[in-house]
Amino acid sequence: MSPKPIPYYWSSVDWPRFVADYPPPPLFDQQMARTSDDELRELQETRFLQRMTEAWAVPFYRDRWTAAGMEPGDVRGLDDLASIPTFTSEDLKRSAEALPPFGTHQTFALDAMATPLKIQSSGGTSGLPRPTLFDPVAWEVQAVQFARAFVAQGGEVGDVLQITLTNSLANTAWCASTAAMHWSGMVPLTTGSGAVTSSVRQLELAREWGTAGWVAFGEYLKILAETAESNGVDLRRDLRTRFIHTYLGVDTDGHLRRLLEDAWGVPVYDNYGTHEVGLIGYECRAQDGLHVNDDTAVLQIVDREDGRPLDDGQAGNIVVTSLHRSVPPIIRYDLKDLMHRSSRAGCSCGARTTKLSGFLGRSDEMVKLRATSVYPRAAQDTVQGDPRSTGEFLCVVDQVGEGMAARERMTVRVEAKPGTDGAALHGDMVRQLKVLFGVAVDVEVVPSGALAPLTGLGGEGKVKRLLDLR
Ligand SMILES: [Zn+2]
Repeated sequence: MSPKPIPYYWSSVDWPRFVADYPPPPLFDQQMARTSDDELRELQETRFLQRMTEAWAVPFYRDRWTAAGMEPGDVRGLDDLASIPTFTSEDLKRSAEALPPFGTHQTFALDAMATPLKIQSSGGTSGLPRPTLFDPVAWEVQAVQFARAFVAQGGEVGDVLQITLTNSLANTAWCASTAAMHWSGMVPLTTGSGAVTSSVRQLELAREWGTAGWVAFGEYLKILAETAESNGVDLRRDLRTRFIHTYLGVDTDGHLRRLLEDAWGVPVYDNYGTHEVGLIGYECRAQDGLHVNDDTAVLQIVDREDGRPLDDGQAGNIVVTSLHRSVPPIIRYDLKDLMHRSSRAGCSCGARTTKLSGFLGRSDEMVKLRATSVYPRAAQDTVQGDPRSTGEFLCVVDQVGEGMAARERMTVRVEAKPGTDGAALHGDMVRQLKVLFGVAVDVEVVPSGALAPLTGLGGEGKVKRLLDLR
């Protein structure tokens, strides 16, 4: 029996064509500056229709679309996008259960490998995480997306980029290191999280090896700043940091950004992405909304109740259609993240793209309190705006009463710094959170560090802000 041919990575992609299709920096800004709205629309239409053709061959889409009365050829372009049913991460989970291990949306037989593949995963608070396969195009496009962000945020050739997320099941760290090495001339320093390389060692390496940029979650940047302070390291004087690439979460009034910029003495840039479609948007040095990678994704903002597309500036669920992904296609994925967008316009950095607001909350975390919709993550900005708190919080939702008298109750646990007057902080938080949410919530002040076991602070992945006991 002859051995199977190896699908080599280096020969699996037409690289000159790839670079022309998905320009890395600085080509992307140049191309987006000279491309008219009509030309961009045409490019998006062409890619979208290719993805539709591929998706019709995928059981997940074929079955859902046929059940909804659609036929191949019905959708003639992006104007018809809203007529295609959306799907959510729950649908992907069910798809994987129906056809293990990868689902009806990823019907690949690994023993018939025609192209190199990699498995990454996301989510999965119960049971197995949700697997997503990446072929070389999906893998490298997400790296190009990150490279565009790094350069827009001040990254330069020869810069050391310290990546404090661990290369693991989640793909953010992989995207960052691939982006640095393959597409931006930067030098990735993959320290991983504090669980892999201690915070003291992270700071030592940054000082000795001249880290210019950091990729880190906001919560970890706070831990690094505290570690620096208690170890006599002056972040501004001893390090050569020029920029920070992070994910600020719900930072509507900018409290977390200001706190981090004050501590580090450099600009902090917000970004937004998702496991399946990569980095959707990134801030440039103007810090004026997130530039969308318009050649790789088409975004819609829809009403969280009835799914109707919303106008520019209105907040709703972000629904994404990937323009580059074939393995698998992603067509109208409702991410349940609340954001708003604005039309393509020029920016002082020179790029001309659609823009996205920062993250406003998770619509599937919505809690109904006395007929008022409350998004727990929105508490972030209030809590982090109070210097008496460590900035850490957790919303605990449970149900009280029985039958008709049953109602949902939310308690916001807020960490206080040592030596804080807990009663005063409690009173102020009760007042401010009532204004924020439009309805009264319970507040419990807890000691510094008390929430880490529940929020996952200091570990891998995103910090949890909602404990749902309903
Ligand atoms: Zn810009």
